[in-house]
Amino acid sequence: MSEDGVAAVAAVERVATRIEAERDYLTELDSAIGDADHGGNMARGWAEAADAVAELDDPDAAAVVKTTGKTLMSEVGGASGPLFGGSLVFAAAELDGGVTAESAVAFAETYLEKVTDRGDARVGDQTMVDALTPAVHTFIKSIEVDELPPLTALAKAVDAAERGVAYTVPIRASKGRASYLGWRSVGHQDPGATSTLFILEELLAAAEAALDTTAPESADATSPTIPDEEA
Ligand code: ADP
Ligand code: MG
Repeated sequence: MSEDGVAAVAAVERVATRIEAERDYLTELDSAIGDADHGGNMARGWAEAADAVAELDDPDAAAVVKTTGKTLMSEVGGASGPLFGGSLVFAAAELDGGVTAESAVAFAETYLEKVTDRGDARVGDQTMVDALTPAVHTFIKSIEVDELPPLTALAKAVDAAERGVAYTVPIRASKGRASYLGWRSVGHQDPGATSTLFILEELLAAAEAALDTTAPESADATSPTIPDEEA
């Protein structure tokens, strides 16, 4: 299997484990402003996705992302299934030539475009877009303007997503089920923004782990404990 493919399968497994651990929390958030199904939907979808990608024969990262998206589309349901899943399937093509800083930027940009095209939500509508937009913008700026290494850029994107999740609390929902609540949605954290943050956190952890395992080979003159010290 390609290195990209191995790392991508591990990333999907990581996300599945994290979403399962957060299932009750996500459900609790969705019960306050929605219909209490986000935790269950996402946990089922990501568990199925982890199974599906584990069965792929020698996949590259693009194939893993595509299969994940297809599985989420069919298993998650609700508003968020097609948004997460359909956008992943569409953006996966950006990784066809492998995962590089450049293709990761294209992937992030296309994914965000697709989510906003499909859901028609913008920043301030109290949806996943509130976490995703600052994450993607920060990632792209960190790579293209600040010329930071992709891992550092991803870490900054995670920080930005975290602030985006916090931003959903004091604003009113204008899209999705929570918008039916009108002003009563104010004061609640958006479930989809929260699950988006968890996914990004696991993506970062998976990327760090993937680079960690390759580090000793390329740095045999130095102590192999260095990556641990940095963690
Ligand atoms: P449903 O609302 O159909 O029960 P979920 O509970 O799985 O679906 O997901 C709810 C999440 O989906 C919300 O917290 C929000 O982040 C996201 N969401 C809903 N509608 C939209 C939209 N139009 N654009 C972007 N995200 C949306
Ligand atoms: Mg729901």
